[in-house]
Amino acid sequence: MTTTSRDASDAIIGQQRSLLDALPFADTRDFDDAKRGLVARRQPNAVTADNGRVVWDNDTYAFIQGDAPDTVNPSLWRQSALVAMDGLFEVVPGLYQVRGMDLSNISFVEGDTGVIVIDPLISSETAAAALALYREHRGDRPVAGVIYSHSHVDHFGGIKGVTSQEDVDAGRVPVLAPEGFVEHAVSENVYAGTAMGRRAGYMYGAALPRNPQGAVGAGLGQTTSTGTVTLIPPTLEITTTGQEEVLDGVRIVFQMAPDTEAPSEMLFYFPDLKALCAAEDATHNLHNLLTLRGAVVRDPHVWAKYLTETIDLFGGQAEVIFASHHWPTWGADQVVGFLSLQRDLYAYLHDQTVRMLNKGLTGSEIAEELTLPPVLENAWNTRGYYGSVSHNVKAIYQRYLGWFDGIPAHLWEHTPVEKAKRYVDLGGGADALVENGQAAFDSGDYRWAAEVLSHVVFAEPDHKAGRALLADTYEQLGYGSENGTWRNFYLSGAYELRNGQFGTPTVAASADMVAQLSPAMLFDAMAVQVNGLAAWDEKLSIDVVLTDADERYRLRLANGVLTYSAAAQSGDADVTVTTSLRGLPALVLGGAPTPERLAEAGIEIAGDDSVLGRLTAVLDPGDQDFAIITP
Ligand SMILES: [Zn+2]
Repeated sequence: MTTTSRDASDAIIGQQRSLLDALPFADTRDFDDAKRGLVARRQPNAVTADNGRVVWDNDTYAFIQGDAPDTVNPSLWRQSALVAMDGLFEVVPGLYQVRGMDLSNISFVEGDTGVIVIDPLISSETAAAALALYREHRGDRPVAGVIYSHSHVDHFGGIKGVTSQEDVDAGRVPVLAPEGFVEHAVSENVYAGTAMGRRAGYMYGAALPRNPQGAVGAGLGQTTSTGTVTLIPPTLEITTTGQEEVLDGVRIVFQMAPDTEAPSEMLFYFPDLKALCAAEDATHNLHNLLTLRGAVVRDPHVWAKYLTETIDLFGGQAEVIFASHHWPTWGADQVVGFLSLQRDLYAYLHDQTVRMLNKGLTGSEIAEELTLPPVLENAWNTRGYYGSVSHNVKAIYQRYLGWFDGIPAHLWEHTPVEKAKRYVDLGGGADALVENGQAAFDSGDYRWAAEVLSHVVFAEPDHKAGRALLADTYEQLGYGSENGTWRNFYLSGAYELRNGQFGTPTVAASADMVAQLSPAMLFDAMAVQVNGLAAWDEKLSIDVVLTDADERYRLRLANGVLTYSAAAQSGDADVTVTTSLRGLPALVLGGAPTPERLAEAGIEIAGDDSVLGRLTAVLDPGDQDFAIITP
């Protein structure tokens, strides 16, 4: 892309300059906080897997220094400069963080004999490198416990880089997590995982070069590491606000915060350190209520309520707040001030969106109209680097009212391709639309240019001038975006228009996560792969006997749907497969369940084994390379 990237247009340069005047760039306290307590940096900071593949390289962001180039929104540039700072930092004596070694932070709390690890990153390789950096400067302390703050992969995936299943099984390393952790950790990426993975490639800019015309960071963190994702289930689930546990002599008080940033999440306070871990519910940006990769909409209303409770529980006591992204904030008053702004941000977005939707405004209208009060607009920690006011407001509308805005014309629209063809006809042909798009581009109205030119590309995907100008348009929209994930989405669109599809660079499902799927989740994952049309006339039944769980399921395929039941069934199924809980995933995942492959996985088959072939024939797995910017 470097060869075809354009410079920023005059319109974008003008926008960047006016932001420099509008935002409080003279307020540099965040830089003081992000640098505070630096013990050492890991140099060079690339992390490789066993086979030598680089899974993380923070040094590739070394270009983010000094004034923002014209091709990067200066507010995002500032955030990226902060987020890209890496190293081992002392938060308070006894509490350390390694930052800049993955999308998230890993934290270390020193106990009587060892060290407690909080949120061991995405990959075992980055987590191991972070622990090694900590030990190099703080001594060879054994890991005495692990805490997962919530069920997202950037907070548990690296656990086998800091401990082992054997140490956990032997009771040497307790693993604490909020109630419901395992179910949510493994389920989020199961059903819609293929689509989310492809879109996450756009969101994190995984295919983009790292330079001022490409990826500069995702706002929450620079990007995701691409090493080995592991999972060890917790040995102790935290269930109650106020619950207190002692790990290696360290007292910890927990606050449950389910259905906030993650369905299973908790905050926790270390009374002896006067340090509060905010998990991911209060970070130095506006977070996502609906991530661009796609997810179930989060609830800003309970999010704000829990932050009020956090202030009530720990405000005045906590002298520092830290989280698993970004840098800490020190000072009892500053902690309350920070939490209050974060709380007010989510509450304001929620309440104002609901107020306006009750006046009949639609999501896109509220997104244009809603303005934050000056205090929230000018606090750096409330700006939309990861979530944005625009897409969060639409998410709140969606949460309450759904996709339909109530306008009958939108109830039964043509598909994007059919609409595009008609717009091209209406406008007098594709060339005429490109001309109109060019005029919009020249006037700096990139939003309209994108609308018009996207119709050209959907109607005539091979229209060279249309594709080229749409790529240029997406690029300028990317250059202007304050939000890191918007920038990545626009620039990834430009990249694919110019260079072809990059598929799904990072696949989240790992063997450890698959091993934790319940039988019901596995059967559901299979059911959503059934090609209904192809299966209309198919009828078959399979009994699944789990030897080590004393469970038995009857799977039925009929009328194009695969259903299952754990209740006692009359009569025999067409075929019976007998396996263990551990062996079950081989039946469902990893390709066609051929008798040979199943035998290899230790799965026994009795009855008509041709049934498995008939089932395979109607399975239609997702496409990791589906088109996004073209039909
Ligand atoms: Zn996270």
